[in-house]
Amino acid sequence: MSRVALVTGGSRGIGAAISVALKNAGYTVAANYAGNDEAAAAFTKDTGIPTYKWNVGDYDASKAGIAKVEADLGPVDIVVANAGITRDAPFHKMTPEQWHQVIDTNLTGVFNTVHPVWPGMRERKFGRVVVISSINGQKGQFGQVNYAATKAGDLGIIKSLAQEGARAGITANAVCPGYIATEMVMAVPEKVRESIIANIPAGRLGEPEEIARCVAFLVSEDAGFVNGSTISANGAQFFV
Ligand code: NDP
Repeated sequence: MSRVALVTGGSRGIGAAISVALKNAGYTVAANYAGNDEAAAAFTKDTGIPTYKWNVGDYDASKAGIAKVEADLGPVDIVVANAGITRDAPFHKMTPEQWHQVIDTNLTGVFNTVHPVWPGMRERKFGRVVVISSINGQKGQFGQVNYAATKAGDLGIIKSLAQEGARAGITANAVCPGYIATEMVMAVPEKVRESIIANIPAGRLGEPEEIARCVAFLVSEDAGFVNGSTISANGAQFFV
């Protein structure tokens, strides 16, 4: 029986590439999403990967959603907390709603995703947790006080989980993507995109599949001693 992997926000963008990479690596994959039913249905049709709708910001909904995944597919041994949103604004204009929406989805969403599967991982003495953080959690970003706080918070989460899970065969790691060619980035005006690319030493955006391959390594049996680590995949754009 292949291990079951849950990817939150796994129906679009980077998450979709992760879901497909894990399926191709032989895992049984469940992809969560928030509300875009059309994209989720198209994703399942294309890939055969089942999709499950719940809001990762809601603990009870996450617990119920994960219970459904486990009833359908078996215990979740691998969890990729990828779902994330932005609500950008300069700090003096940022509203409490913008702050809380991003904290609820990106940070509390990680707690809500990992907490329900953690006891089972401890019992089975195996688990892989990967959180998709961001270069902007490492360096901060104008207009993203809320987002950068959550992405920096992800790094504190995995370093702490790594210490708690190590003896039980559980690893927790993060991937910090730079700018990746998802719908979100491709939707910005070409001139802005050109100025973003000009700041990337590699001279190009990353591809979702390049992030997915980092995740595939981190969840593998081979990565058992890699714990509490961060892979930065950003074309050498760090901290510029
Ligand atoms: P997309 O906007 O392309 O996809 C987001 C996915 O997350 C969708 O499947 C969406 O579901 C789901 N989602 C959003 N909110 C929730 C929620 N509350 N509950 C459950 N699912 C939710 O995002 P990207 O692929 O661009 O980003 C993926 C991750 O990578 C994020 O954490 C992001 O912060 C991070 N990242 C992205 C970078 C980039 O350049 N794109 C750079 C660095 C980090 P639905 O389809 O239903 O809306």
